[in-house]
Amino acid sequence: MKSDPLKCERLREEMVKKQIEARGVSDPVVLSAMRKVPRHLFVSEALRDQAYGDFPLPIGFDQTISQPYIVAEMTEALQLDEEDRVLEIGTGSGYQAAVCAEVAYRVYTIERIHALYLRARRLFDDLHYHNIVSRYSDGSSGWKEESPFDAIIVTAGAPEIPNTLVNQLAMGGRLVIPVGDRFSQELVKLVRDENGIRTTRLGGCRFVKLLGEYGWKDA
Ligand code: SAM
Repeated sequence: MKSDPLKCERLREEMVKKQIEARGVSDPVVLSAMRKVPRHLFVSEALRDQAYGDFPLPIGFDQTISQPYIVAEMTEALQLDEEDRVLEIGTGSGYQAAVCAEVAYRVYTIERIHALYLRARRLFDDLHYHNIVSRYSDGSSGWKEESPFDAIIVTAGAPEIPNTLVNQLAMGGRLVIPVGDRFSQELVKLVRDENGIRTTRLGGCRFVKLLGEYGWKDA
């Protein structure tokens, strides 16, 4: 796979058409980012031939890289433009951060598992994603020193929406987060505007747990 970039490009094109556009994601900048980011490099060599399948894949440490459609849906919901500063909680493989980095000005991403943080950081360097800043810590409390953010994406399921993250949204800022119990969650979008916070429900989903001070306390 790694040595056949044309085949990967064809698989990405098929992924975008059959899994993403077909399900209603239509923002051209999101589709173009999904066509560009080499997803197969964000999974282990043993799983490369499955990287463009319509499912999540394991990335070690009981964690997963999300299904391509979910990545596209969440990125579209963030309504990013090229001046936006984005915070991601849950770097994992780094794939979602890379997709956001194709669209936004800068992406700040936080991971609580040291080995995943290191692996993703190395990959960002190798792929020249110089607009991604990564950090190893509990992201459930956000990244106050770099706030406010135009968009915040949480890629792990929270028992409730952490207020500390809502408080780090800029005026006009968007937060997308899976909220629910440990078995299933709903994707929720919050927008901060002059009138306060507007909430929309985007549908069901299933994520690993957001652990930490403002997430689940037990694994
Ligand atoms: N966005 C990732 C990607 O593109 O591969 C997928 C994320 S995976 C579904 C969830 C990640 O959130 C895991 O790597 C997990 O360790 C991380 N996580 C869970 N709680 C966290 C916390 N409080 N702070 C930072 N990362 C957290």
